[in-house]
Amino acid sequence: MNYDQLIRRTILGITPYVPGKPIEEVQRELGIDDVIKLASNENPLGPSPQGVEAAKKLLQEAHLYPDGGAVLLKEALAAKLGVEPEELIVGNGCDEVIKLLAEAFFQPEDEVIVADPTFGEYAYATQLMGARLVKVKGEGLGHDLEKMADAVTERTKAVFICNPNNPTGTVNSRRELENFLRRVPERVLVIVDQAYFEYVDDPAYPNGIDYRNDGRVLTLRTFSKIYGLAGFRVGYGVGSKELIEYINRVREPFNVNRLAQGAALAALADGEHLQRSREVNREGRKQLYRAFDDLGLAYLPSEANFILFATSYPARDVFQALLRRGVIVRSADIFGLPNHIRVTVGTREQNQRFIRSLQEVLAELQTEQ
Ligand SMILES: *Cc1c(COP(=O)(O)O)cnc(C)c1O
Repeated sequence: MNYDQLIRRTILGITPYVPGKPIEEVQRELGIDDVIKLASNENPLGPSPQGVEAAKKLLQEAHLYPDGGAVLLKEALAAKLGVEPEELIVGNGCDEVIKLLAEAFFQPEDEVIVADPTFGEYAYATQLMGARLVKVKGEGLGHDLEKMADAVTERTKAVFICNPNNPTGTVNSRRELENFLRRVPERVLVIVDQAYFEYVDDPAYPNGIDYRNDGRVLTLRTFSKIYGLAGFRVGYGVGSKELIEYINRVREPFNVNRLAQGAALAALADGEHLQRSREVNREGRKQLYRAFDDLGLAYLPSEANFILFATSYPARDVFQALLRRGVIVRSADIFGLPNHIRVTVGTREQNQRFIRSLQEVLAELQTEQ
């Protein structure tokens, strides 16, 4: 069977997503139980306990379809965010909202602008629809919104702004975003991905939702990161009613499952878990900065729950050597950064374990040279 003749041409250009290595797989390969995963920016404290309780109760309702409109969750989110429920779309993770947006708006002749490096889902959704991806590298590793605005042409359909950016942890300020919106024509969709919104400390950091009346701004948030519900898959978009209504047209009726909706609703009310997660992350960032300073490694100060750092060795080698010690991180070669590693901020003990392992790995790689 020659599938090349059958497949949509644009699919040939898609490289499948490379997930963070699962804990179970590493445990099996190494024959050890004690494996920590600091690879996918998950919450090291686990899920909100209230979210877990809510999901457990809902198991008894597994025979019922979920609420296709996610009415209760949207009402709670709307109240919390100060928006109307009609300005919200809930997805099977933010990933789905990105894909739905692409399905509703991207066409083969369109250009879609992203930063380089940035989150891979934007490229995937763009390619899926056969639109053209335009990558814009800045001076540093973060988003250069001036350069991204320069890249806009009459064909530009959308610009993705990942804020904080994954994998750099850098943010764009309110002023940068507003200058950008002023420069870019109103027909261009601007997606502000704020998956790590709750972790940010920078007072100049903008709230994407404030710009929704503009009509072209879609802000993305998720329950996968600080709420610790990555396994349930719940994310959402906030935009003008009209924009949301169009995206809703391509959404499957029961896209977010019943347990996930219930868990997210309960987690949203769990202020204590949120606060504790934020504090653990703040302390953890400091702990890791100190270690990188001690080791003489360059890193980017982060507003999120991960840190990008560089060594003088190939990232793949550092990744593998850490893996042998039961520590899973993310080699940033997949982001086009062959010497960088992205590490998720863990608990104090996990960070300590990572730091100790990293010291050993760097010593080992040095003697091998
Ligand atoms: C993790 C992440 C998301 C969240 O994706 P979900 O599908 O909600 O789990 C979105 N954007 C960025 C930049 C991320 O890093």
